[in-house]
Amino acid sequence: MYNRRKFIKLSAAGASLAALSKSGIAKTITPRPESGYPIVISTWDFGIIANKGAWKVLSTGGRALDAIEAGARIPEAEDITNHTVGRTGLPDRDGHVTLDSCIMDEFGNCGSVAAMEDIAHPISVARMVMEKTPHVMLVGEGATQFAVEQGMKKEKLLTPETEKIWKEWLKKAQYSPVMNIENGAGRPGGKYNHDTIGMLAIDAKGNISGGCTTSGMAFKLHGRVGDSPIIGAGLYVDNEVGGATSTGVGEEVIRNVGSFLVVELMRQGLSPEDACKEAVHRIIKKKPETAKKIQVGFLAINKKGEYGAYAIQSGFSYAVCNAQQQDLLVPGKSYYK
Ligand code: ASP
Repeated sequence: MYNRRKFIKLSAAGASLAALSKSGIAKTITPRPESGYPIVISTWDFGIIANKGAWKVLSTGGRALDAIEAGARIPEAEDITNHTVGRTGLPDRDGHVTLDSCIMDEFGNCGSVAAMEDIAHPISVARMVMEKTPHVMLVGEGATQFAVEQGMKKEKLLTPETEKIWKEWLKKAQYSPVMNIENGAGRPGGKYNHDTIGMLAIDAKGNISGGCTTSGMAFKLHGRVGDSPIIGAGLYVDNEVGGATSTGVGEEVIRNVGSFLVVELMRQGLSPEDACKEAVHRIIKKKPETAKKIQVGFLAINKKGEYGAYAIQSGFSYAVCNAQQQDLLVPGKSYYK
């Protein structure tokens, strides 16, 4: 990328010089401002491996949408230590692994699947809903059926390990999402709770896409759907302004149409971090007692490639990948320290 930028600068200078010798009039050359893209940012530490998958696409001039799909597929199915996304995600109360995902491109096209079982790559199914159907969202059995019709492999997503964790949980069977254990969630030795990979990318042309994918809240009621497959809640992209995504207790994000709110606040001139902060404050203001006990984090990027995040609780992190660095993990700022 450094070389490409250097090349662009050199060829721009070359073009100006050519113009100079032809017309004989000296012109001031305005340096091309360094663009903030291509770039991809993702929620949590497992965002690093997702970003790397996306970067293969972005760094070779590919489209942001392709980068999002390629990146999200890594935590979905290749990272078997992650119990919050895709294959090896934790099941619901009844032992079903039900997955939620959505994707949105630079034209405002979007697709989504919710409460889908037996398919390890919901992000790809969401994209197929977007590109191959007149609909935005498919749920449950219909989503699985569509995925199979499109050639996706049906497989059992509950593994011996996640089954063991679920059976352990059944002994008390108390549904109480635990706040602030996100850093250890789904990791060996960590506790098991919830998380989502939310991703936002800008390609070399400056076009924005985003996606998110999750197994949702561990041990949720069968049929429960969170914010992650809901356009405007778990994800929103407006190519003129930027994009936003969320993680945490989805019910509170849905109530506030969180990601749409963040993008609209950026449209009004707020920086990505300030927009995320305002959206978090909205959640806290509406339900201050609930907010003390839960985590919600927003991540956002604007059209210039500036990014930021904000969460209710500390412990939220996000991964950043661009030409300068491919594995940066940034601690998100938070309301409660
Ligand atoms: N937002 C997800 C959900 O509510 C879970 C998470 O990101 O922690 O399903």
